[in-house]
Amino acid sequence: MPTSTTESRVFNFSAGPATLPLSVLEQIQAEMLSLPGVGSSVLEISHRSKDFDAILEDAVTRVTQVLNVPDTHEVLFIQGGGALQNIMIPANLITDSAQTADYIQTGSWGKKSAGEVHNYGNLNVAYDAAESNYDHVPSQDQLKLTSGAAYVHLTSNETIQGVQFHKLPDTNGVPIVADKSSDIFCEPINVADYGLLYACAQKNAGVAGVTIVVMAKELTERSAPKMPSYLSYAKHSAGGSRFNTPCSFGIYVTGLVCKWLQEEIGGLEKMAAINESKAKMLYDVVDGSNGFYIGHAQPADRSTMNVTFKMATPELDAKFVADADEAGMSTLKGHRSVGGIRASIYNAMPVEGVESLTAFMKDFAAKNG
Ligand SMILES: *Cc1c(COP(=O)(O)O)cnc(C)c1O
Repeated sequence: MPTSTTESRVFNFSAGPATLPLSVLEQIQAEMLSLPGVGSSVLEISHRSKDFDAILEDAVTRVTQVLNVPDTHEVLFIQGGGALQNIMIPANLITDSAQTADYIQTGSWGKKSAGEVHNYGNLNVAYDAAESNYDHVPSQDQLKLTSGAAYVHLTSNETIQGVQFHKLPDTNGVPIVADKSSDIFCEPINVADYGLLYACAQKNAGVAGVTIVVMAKELTERSAPKMPSYLSYAKHSAGGSRFNTPCSFGIYVTGLVCKWLQEEIGGLEKMAAINESKAKMLYDVVDGSNGFYIGHAQPADRSTMNVTFKMATPELDAKFVADADEAGMSTLKGHRSVGGIRASIYNAMPVEGVESLTAFMKDFAAKNG
C-alpha cells in the first residue's frame, strides 16, 4: 500500500533500501544546502576537492574503527552493488581458469552470487539448502569443500529467507568471501577471519549506490593483471576508491551511519545487544502463538535482521500486511519466493517499532486465531 498521504514517518520494515537512523536523515537535511564551511552540498562538489577528501577519509576511518579492521586489510568503496561484486570476486580471485571456487548456498542471494563463476573458473556448490526452501545453514560436516579452492563464498545473512550464519565454517585456510549486505555492522566480527567481505550499503550501512568492500591486501595483490580495468580491485585500491567518480553522496551517508553507530549507539557490541533483544521479541511472539505464526528459518539459524514467518493461509498473510500498514507499520510483505511476512529490523529500526509490531501481532492473532 502506498502511504503517499502519510505525513509523519511510519515504522518502515522494508528489506532494502531500508530505514535510516532519524538523526542521520536530519543531518543530511541540515547539510543539504551547504556543508559547514563549504557553501555547497555534498552533491555539488568535486570528488577530487579537499572537502570531499575529508568526507572520504572520514568514512574510511569510521568503517575501519567500527569494524576494527586490522592493518592486513583495506576498506574500499565501489559502485555496482552486490551484483558487481558477484563478478569482481571470481574475476579477481580466480587467477587461472582451472581453479575452483566453493559456494555455500543458504538462500537466494548466495545462489545468485554463484551464477557468475563459470565465466572465470570452476564452480563447486559446497552446500545447497534449496531442498528445504533455504531454512538453515549447514553444519561443518555437511560441507563439500575443495582443498586448495580459490576461496569459499557464503552469504552471512540471507535477506529473503531470514537465515543467518552465527558462526563461520572452518575452511582449512581457504579465504572466506562473505556477502554481508544485510548484516554488516549488526554485531562485532573478527575481520581477520575474512579474505574479503562486502556489503551494498542500502540495508544496514547507508543508501544505494555504494558498496563497502573490506579485503585482505594480500588478495588485492592477487588480482589477475589482465581484466577490464573497472573490475580490478587493485585499480580501485590504487585509486583510493576514486578510480572514477565515486558515489560521493553514498560515501557521505555511510560515514554518517558509522558516526551514529559510534556516538549514539556506542559501538557494535551495544548494537548487537539491541539487535538480539529486538529479534527475540518477535521470535518469542511467533513461538508463543500456538502455531498461529509459523517461522520460516530453523530456530538455531534465525536472522537477527530479517524475521520471516507466515500464517495458515495467504489470505491471512495479506490481511496482516494491510492491517499493519493501516497501523503505521509498512512493507511487511514477504518476498514472493517465501511468501508470508518479512519484518526487516536492521540497526536503524527503533525498539519502539518492534514493540509496536509485537503488540500488533498479539492482537492480530487474538482476533484471527
Ligand atoms: C540486497 C542484497 C544484495 C543486493 O545487491 P544489489 O546488486 O546491490 O541490488 C546482495 N546481497 C544480499 C545478501 C542482499 O541482501
